Amino acid sequence: MPRELTDTAPAAGSDTGWSSEHSAELYGINTWGAGYFDLSAQGEAQVNVDFGDHQVVVSLMDIVLGMRARGLHMPAVLRIRNLLDHRIKVLNESFALAIEQGNYQNSYRGVFPIKVNQQCHVIEEIADYGRHYHHGLEAGSKAELIIALSQLRDHDSLIICNGYKDAEFIDLGLYARQMGIACFFVLESLNELPLLIERSRALDVEPLIGVRIKNSVVVDGHWSQDSGDRSIFGLSTDALITIVDELRAAGMLHCLQLLHCHLGSQIPNIRNVRSGVLDACRFYVGLVQEGAPMGYLDLGGGLAVDYEGARTNSTHSMNYQLQEYCTNIVESICETLDPLDISHPVIITESGRATVAYSSMLLFNILDVRDSHPGALPATLPEDCSENLSNLQSVLSTVGEKNFQECYNDALFYRDELREEFHHGQATLRERALGENFYLAVLQRIAAILPQLNRVPPELENLPELLSDIYYGNFSLFQSLPDMWAIDQVFPIMPIHRLTEEPTRSAVLADLTCDCDGKIDHFSTPEGISRTLKLHELKPDEDYYLGVFLVGAYQETLGDLHNLFGDTNVVNVAVNSDGTFEFVREFHGDSIFDVLKYVEYEPKKMQEQFRLVAEEAVRSGKISIPQRQAILQAFKESLHGYTYFEHE
Ligand SMILES: *Cc1c(COP(=O)(O)O)cnc(C)c1O
Repeated sequence: MPRELTDTAPAAGSDTGWSSEHSAELYGINTWGAGYFDLSAQGEAQVNVDFGDHQVVVSLMDIVLGMRARGLHMPAVLRIRNLLDHRIKVLNESFALAIEQGNYQNSYRGVFPIKVNQQCHVIEEIADYGRHYHHGLEAGSKAELIIALSQLRDHDSLIICNGYKDAEFIDLGLYARQMGIACFFVLESLNELPLLIERSRALDVEPLIGVRIKNSVVVDGHWSQDSGDRSIFGLSTDALITIVDELRAAGMLHCLQLLHCHLGSQIPNIRNVRSGVLDACRFYVGLVQEGAPMGYLDLGGGLAVDYEGARTNSTHSMNYQLQEYCTNIVESICETLDPLDISHPVIITESGRATVAYSSMLLFNILDVRDSHPGALPATLPEDCSENLSNLQSVLSTVGEKNFQECYNDALFYRDELREEFHHGQATLRERALGENFYLAVLQRIAAILPQLNRVPPELENLPELLSDIYYGNFSLFQSLPDMWAIDQVFPIMPIHRLTEEPTRSAVLADLTCDCDGKIDHFSTPEGISRTLKLHELKPDEDYYLGVFLVGAYQETLGDLHNLFGDTNVVNVAVNSDGTFEFVREFHGDSIFDVLKYVEYEPKKMQEQFRLVAEEAVRSGKISIPQRQAILQAFKESLHGYTYFEHE
């Protein structure tokens, strides 16, 4: 049941004139949220689910409270099943519309690349819901092929096998073919062909063959360096010709039916998509002219997600809409093939990111804040204190718009002098602490002046970041947001409640790993990337929840066990058309017992080893037997507990 919000609405912030609309603008949720997420007037982030004739909204805080009541604590991944379904629907329907409008004479078949999110219930849902559209799966390894074979029930859906294939992989695919499954082998290198020919003769099954080309188009975005001729994947033109010749010689050219090209992931610029497709079409034409039957054109992934909501061609954004993407592809194919009277192929795309990103979010609570405000400053200093201290005090009393740069230099100088005195034993610990407080107070005053200036001096540019608070979140960046660490990916992050209150603190986020890489200091805002995020002051005895959005792609399995923080709790929620929602799946994250086993410990043995330590302490009289029992009990409970910070 949705909670009654009347007790909190219209909320504490109303006297400051701050409303949900201000928060929506500040965090950009109406742009990156793509209609799936926005804010309620009561100041909570909510998810919108489209039921065709009506919309249902569910507050994320209602889901969090439901999780809490079920013992599913933070951090947790929340997956909304309806959003995954909706992405598959719009992808297929947008292609269908482009095909209809472009008078295209064939159909679209999407395949989901399993590597983007291999989680069982994600793949099950894609296979299940996608069946209506004959949405298939792309497999890059034997394990993924096994997933695809076991999940797809619909023989009109395709399975596309990429990656290097050994005899076992090939046999599995050939057996699938024998059973009538449309399973394509995409050749990535020349060396795969002899084995494929041999196995297909041995099992007497004709394979469906595709070839992966190296597109010469260099795309913008993060993977720019790896695109074009530098791509590590795909066949050179010469190798492609060799494959055609070898297939012809083996009497198997009629098996070559698919051309595959993957331009790269997260392509922010529609012009790259267009030139990539035009280029691929030329290869397609070439293969038709060589006498291969063809019939399928697989354009790979690359459909971007606008993580910034900026609608630009910058790395984490995109300058096009889904419909435009589909229309561009359809038009480019017609443009190349129609003059040559070549029939239109089935269009395949392997959109991963754009299919799953929206449906998952990471939720966590804030555990602590390290505030960068200076401690108490005395009005008068002791008579015999260091001269540097009294100088710092007088700098503080004179900071103004005219002399702030001079004050900055002076404060830095006196602080360093004081540190030097401390170093030589001439200043006490207390004097040093006081000096650092004065220094910080000077910087705070200067930071307050900066926004009014036309030009900020370069040495002061990162002052706001330096003076920001550190909010410690109950999560591990390495486990839950690996791309933030590995490739500087940005994801939208914001509080999911209290959004009718003005957030007054500027913060960076730190995770639990006490690793200096475990911090988040790049945030997307409607104005571009910011080094700090606006957050609310913590309230005593009240949890403060943040959400990291659009994390459904690539984050769930690339994560690692840094500091032995394991898998988080996960809940899958289905929203019903009457406005209710249910927890259709819930998974408890790794316990400490689980993660220790991953790194080859034997937790049972560890318990025994610790028992010996406790027994020894009893023998030497350090603890009593009841104390021993309590200690062993605590050890055992920790072993079976969550790897993250637990409240109760
Ligand atoms: C990774 C990958 C994809 C998925 O790309 P997205 O940009 O996530 O859509 C598709 N095809 C191949 C061959 C890939 O390697």
